[in-house]
Amino acid sequence: MTVSTAHQPETEEDRPAWARRPAPGRLALVQQFLNTHAYPGHDDDFACAATAQTWLRQHIPAAQIAPDADPADYRRLRDRLRDYVRGPSTLADSTRLTRTLGHPPLTVDMSATGDITLVSAGSATEWLSGEIAAALVLAVADGSWRRFKTCANDECQAIFWDQTKNGSGRFCTPEICGNRFRQRHFRATHPQAKTAGDTPSFRGA
Ligand SMILES: [Zn+2]
Repeated sequence: MTVSTAHQPETEEDRPAWARRPAPGRLALVQQFLNTHAYPGHDDDFACAATAQTWLRQHIPAAQIAPDADPADYRRLRDRLRDYVRGPSTLADSTRLTRTLGHPPLTVDMSATGDITLVSAGSATEWLSGEIAAALVLAVADGSWRRFKTCANDECQAIFWDQTKNGSGRFCTPEICGNRFRQRHFRATHPQAKTAGDTPSFRGA
């Protein structure tokens, strides 16, 4: 798969907090898609056809780009996938996600060394659905899907890849979202702390 890296942020500080600890391999694209939602400082990448095309050009192979879908189709797929990450998913949630993924064209590619890869094809929506379906099946099968979590900072709600050994991570970035979450909680429970100087800095997962 060839993915353009044009327009990618150049420094660590330019990257959104969740992107500083990206999911591995094929799941990285799934995570990027999951985090196209609107959050403070970031508009929904699929708010309209123009922004959708920009995101697609940056993240999927050029050969698959075509003005083939309503941005609402991408938003629906993303939001159902986000619901699936949040869990515990009901049978109805799973059925809706399965229906939204549809029947993307996937082929088996076997190398001379015995490696087997599922290769996605088709239009932009089909290609993306295929990539997500292939990554989803493999990650659920090996248990790694559980490392996708929703950031507990309500203002963020990014889908992050929990890199803690025991899977106890709650924030996309403990040093940013964890600290903000705990400072808000502290101020709510200590109304006498009026200024930032009165609010301690917190650390932890
Ligand atoms: Zn966060």
